[in-house]
Amino acid sequence: MTTIKQEDLIQSVADALQYISYYHPVDYIEALADAYAAEESPAAKDAIAQILTNSRMCAEGHRPICQDTGIVVAFVRIGMDVRWDDATMSPTDMINEGVRRAYLDPDNTLRASIVDDPAGARRNTRDNTPAVVHFELVPGNTVDVRIAAKGGGSENKAEFVMLNPSDSIVDWVVRTLPAMGAGWCPPGMLGIGIGGSAEKAMLLAKEALMQPIDMAMLRKRGPANGLEQLRIDIFDAANALGIGAQGLGGLSTVLDVKILDYPTHAASKPVGMIPNCAATRHAHFTLDGSGAARLAPPDLTRWPDVRWAPAPTAKRVDLNRLTREEVAGWKPGDRLLLCGKLLTGRDAAHKRIADLFARGESLPPGVDFTNRIIYYVGPVDPVRDEVVGPAGPTTATRMDKFTDMMLARTGLLAMIGKAERGPVAIEAIRKHRAAYLMAVGGAAYLVSQAIKSSRIVAFADLGMEAIYEFDVRDMPVTVAVDATGSSVHRTGPREWQQRIGKIPVTVA
Ligand code: SF4
Repeated sequence: MTTIKQEDLIQSVADALQYISYYHPVDYIEALADAYAAEESPAAKDAIAQILTNSRMCAEGHRPICQDTGIVVAFVRIGMDVRWDDATMSPTDMINEGVRRAYLDPDNTLRASIVDDPAGARRNTRDNTPAVVHFELVPGNTVDVRIAAKGGGSENKAEFVMLNPSDSIVDWVVRTLPAMGAGWCPPGMLGIGIGGSAEKAMLLAKEALMQPIDMAMLRKRGPANGLEQLRIDIFDAANALGIGAQGLGGLSTVLDVKILDYPTHAASKPVGMIPNCAATRHAHFTLDGSGAARLAPPDLTRWPDVRWAPAPTAKRVDLNRLTREEVAGWKPGDRLLLCGKLLTGRDAAHKRIADLFARGESLPPGVDFTNRIIYYVGPVDPVRDEVVGPAGPTTATRMDKFTDMMLARTGLLAMIGKAERGPVAIEAIRKHRAAYLMAVGGAAYLVSQAIKSSRIVAFADLGMEAIYEFDVRDMPVTVAVDATGSSVHRTGPREWQQRIGKIPVTVA
């Protein structure tokens, strides 16, 4: 019988969540470094360089890899011979207390992203609780915890299908992956769960993402069974799609494919697929009664010597004098360095603006989008002498339905976000001769270095979703949709799928 202290589980969870907020797993970094070395697409290589540079800065500065510090998911195995010493909380409450402690840590405050009443008021719980916890009671005398902070952008792209028993899983992935877009911030991993029931397949897919990346080793030694062969087949097929880093077109879309399976009904073949993003964050620890877990800092010499710098061809743009004519001159793929003032806003601010207009009211005092750019971002709160915490882009497609309204009614010239825009937004951009610029998802701390001042101008009650005014210097973005409606997220993957030449390109 082992005795575990409540405080040891709480502190171990808090420490693990702080650790993964700024340390990428080394296996992810090494696989990404290999992808960087092999990448031939200049746009994708630039994006990977930003992610690698950001990763090193976060590891050194102990600040979050991404502004989205995730929803906490834990898989906990409790040994049947464990007893709890003076426990006043349930294991779920202990884990939530650890989450609270980690996210409110004054030295590295993490962004609280969890809202309760998800179908209604969607109120932020302010401390990122509750976590999603899965328990298993197992033989033994330890408590084993695998814990992750899963980004919303990648979680939103989860897929489930009930295939016919004879259907090909590889074919389903090839059909499904392009439709998921790049909001999951590739290059990352695919977690795939096969079998069981509908909910079991999804749980297996999530649990599979807790495994380390070892595709290079698997390819070298060769598959030992059918599932390992399937991993390789899906890996090859996914990368042959040419989606590339950030959906810009390139050789590396996934760094590994992890699969877990379970027996299923003879009539069923349930398959869950959950991607993990550029902010892959998970840790594993075991409590054996000897105290709180200690996670050793990684050896930073295992990070590649990649230091991102702006391309020499990047054009500097003065945001304080921006005109519609200048915006109309930008071409897809142009690299820009933004200088001057821009406004921010994301889901809740757009909804509030739409509601104001629907009631015949105007924008709040101090909010003027005329000849401005809006940045879709929800930054981490600053600590110490920071102007703002990590502040990378959020998925732009969620703002697609508001784009025509914003461009038609506010005088807005352009938007910054991550990943592609959908047809409705692209048509609005073309109609208003506007533009959409993309910043690299998963490079939030690097991007935040360009922000020289920050102030809230409206909707302060929305917290990280408030409208801020940022003064930026040399903020790096790429033109993703130009004033004619041409999109790099359409042309890039098509070009690279053709170049890789394993899957025929069909023009939609
Ligand atoms: S890397 Fe992308 S998907 Fe992942 S947490 Fe950050 S913004 Fe979200």
